[in-house]
Amino acid sequence: MIVNSARFIISNTDVRKCPEEIKHEFAFIGRSNVGKSSLINMLTGHKALAQTSSTPGKTLLINHFLINHEYILNRAQMTCLFLLVDGRHKPQKIDMEFMQWLGENEVPFAIVFTKLDKLSSNAAKHATAAYCEELLEQWEELPPIFRTSAVDKRGRTGLLEYIDQLCRLPLETEE
Ligand code: GDP
Repeated sequence: MIVNSARFIISNTDVRKCPEEIKHEFAFIGRSNVGKSSLINMLTGHKALAQTSSTPGKTLLINHFLINHEYILNRAQMTCLFLLVDGRHKPQKIDMEFMQWLGENEVPFAIVFTKLDKLSSNAAKHATAAYCEELLEQWEELPPIFRTSAVDKRGRTGLLEYIDQLCRLPLETEE
């Protein structure tokens, strides 16, 4: 997918006030400081579409961005949720519980490892493989996995291609 345009629409603390008229919706979620803003900026090719911070706990809002004028026609629906986890860390309880919840509620999700530039390529391989092995103790199969860095931009093409594929799937329309 080529990102032709990207703009910020709205910040919310209240999910009921989120915009409805979006065709495909992709959520980037994860613990504070995991690299959500940096990944969004990396994917869209903008330096500061999403505000990055070195102080944990700043991204307390639901921020909506409109990409490629992908407007309207249907009610907003979650096409995929990307759970960001720091590629250097072991699975955290809160993330595992969240994945469990996503599974139970049939929310399609993928895992995005972030900050892999901070590890050597071998260490990155090992750390992410160990993470996946731990997941497989609870799950029969793994969700789609992406290995990224906002610094060296690895994973960008793969992630954008995946989003592109999902955008081509027919939308479930509300009766
Ligand atoms: P958010 O709170 O999840 O939105 O996280 P941010 O995107 O604000 O990132 C938190 C900190 O991690 C910032 O200092 C970023 O510069 C840094 N960071 C984010 N992604 C990466 C990455 O891929 N590599 C490196 N080296 N630092 C990153």
